[in-house]
Amino acid sequence: MIPISVVRLDEEAEQLAVEVIRSGRLAQGPMVARLEREFADLVGVEHAVAVNNGTTALVAALEVLDLQPGDEVVTSPFTFVATLNAILEAGATARFADIRADDFCVDPEALAAAVGPRTRVLMPVHLYGQPADMDAIVPLARRHGLGLVEDSAQSLGAAVGGRGAGSFGLGAFSLYATKNLTTGEGGMITTDDAHLADRLRVLRNQGMRQRYQYEVAGHNYRLTDLQAALGIPQLATYGDNVKRRRDNAARLTAGLADVPGLRLPAELPGRSHVWHQYTVLVTEAAPATRDEVVARLTEQGVGCGVYYPKTVHDYDCYREHPRVVVDPTPVADDVVRRCVSLPVHHHLADGDVDRVVEAVRKAVGA
Ligand SMILES: *Cc1c(COP(=O)(O)O)cnc(C)c1O
Repeated sequence: MIPISVVRLDEEAEQLAVEVIRSGRLAQGPMVARLEREFADLVGVEHAVAVNNGTTALVAALEVLDLQPGDEVVTSPFTFVATLNAILEAGATARFADIRADDFCVDPEALAAAVGPRTRVLMPVHLYGQPADMDAIVPLARRHGLGLVEDSAQSLGAAVGGRGAGSFGLGAFSLYATKNLTTGEGGMITTDDAHLADRLRVLRNQGMRQRYQYEVAGHNYRLTDLQAALGIPQLATYGDNVKRRRDNAARLTAGLADVPGLRLPAELPGRSHVWHQYTVLVTEAAPATRDEVVARLTEQGVGCGVYYPKTVHDYDCYREHPRVVVDPTPVADDVVRRCVSLPVHHHLADGDVDRVVEAVRKAVGA
């Protein structure tokens, strides 16, 4: 079986975890501070604020932008449910702009068309490890005086024009078990704005600056030192792991380029992709459907995933929701029926990738 994701921590993580256990400081402490410093360096920002997961990272990022009831956040309809839930949790109204099929990220033109009088924040999602078209989105936000929150959960280390994903506005990252860098559960908010970083630190700790001095109604969003200890060694090897993912992606592309009806993912010009997922589209020209491909890959012991089987709001629990506004998004509606993600992670050897290629060729019926 070749799994779609694997978690394997090294001896240094074990040693740091033991260090924390012996120190008796199990909650937020010096390990979290160290993870934050090194994480900020990797993203290329001044400040990184650790929180307990990627969803709370998004909520906290939205909260420090001081949204009022009725304020709208425009995001992608093709994302993990946390993106939408965070907007609702922050008390805002969610709207959706269609995606592009070449980067699976929100289309800047659709985003511009969705901006209205109640829009306060643009929230692009850097999906699968490829950043959204920030060269177009940043000027759009600036032109309309909008906040910018980047859902960077899947894209640590990705870049546009050499600038890190999560460094254009407020970046929100996830350190969940399946992400490129993991602490089991965990999150991080990145910014160059010292004032916002300070507010985020207070907000994650019950709104408390000094002991029992509360400035705002806050949360307990703290990460623990035990979790941070697992993440620190992965920062040192992160570049090598991304290189491995890039090589695996290139090998998949070389092996699958001539498969009829299969649309392969590509790193777009000016962008740097960290290959959290390698996601293909099974188009109408393919001899098999997406669901047939998924079933046949599973039969052959090759893990795959459908991220995501529906647009994010297309569930009964959001249907009548007063703060979920749905506009047509035909590209996303098509992509959810055609997408399938293949193993590309950094624990795959060349031979594993070749097995994936063979299995996909068989599954499509090429
Ligand atoms: C993983 C993920 C999140 C949420 O992160 P958690 O750590 O699971 O809370 C948010 N957005 C996207 C796009 C994700 O992939």
